[in-house]
Amino acid sequence: MEYPNSFEELVECFKMLPGIGTKGAERMVYHILAMDDDQIQRFSQALIDFKSNIQYCQRCGHICEGELCEICLDQQRDQTTICVVESPKDVFAMEKLKEYRGLYHVLHGTMSIMDGKTIDDLNIQTLFDRLDENIKEVIIATNPTREGETTALFLAKLLAKQNIPASRIANGLPIGGNLDYADELTLLKSLEGRKKL
Ligand SMILES: [Zn+2]
Repeated sequence: MEYPNSFEELVECFKMLPGIGTKGAERMVYHILAMDDDQIQRFSQALIDFKSNIQYCQRCGHICEGELCEICLDQQRDQTTICVVESPKDVFAMEKLKEYRGLYHVLHGTMSIMDGKTIDDLNIQTLFDRLDENIKEVIIATNPTREGETTALFLAKLLAKQNIPASRIANGLPIGGNLDYADELTLLKSLEGRKKL
């Protein structure tokens, strides 16, 4: 027996999410079936608000609800250091350490031969627009995957051309892993042990 259309449609929507298969999606839809109207209203409004309110910081590319993110707006932060990461979730992973006090730049991806992504497909021009004599260090903290390393190497060359001091977070993160999956101690050691390029 098939599900009613609206049920099936919601199952298909949940299946768009990573790691959610048919079984998992069905479980969620059964759960939603039991929700009252207020909960359903809150749930659907949160999705709509999320899409219309969340945007990317015009300076660093992190997520925010205004023109600039709270990190860029915070004058207490060290304005001389920029940590380059692949995605907003890496910013949150780094911030959890409560150790790094500089600024960020989010590339929104990596160079990838497989996906045909070049350096020009990344949020990189805005990074070079930010670099001036006040910047004392750019920490390249792309993930230790093949794509992350390729991007780091390429970026390091571009920075060297402009005489911008750069460093790369240390090995020790699991190869092929992601910053946001690393435990905090490993990530902290990787940051502290960064090497000048
Ligand atoms: Zn920002």
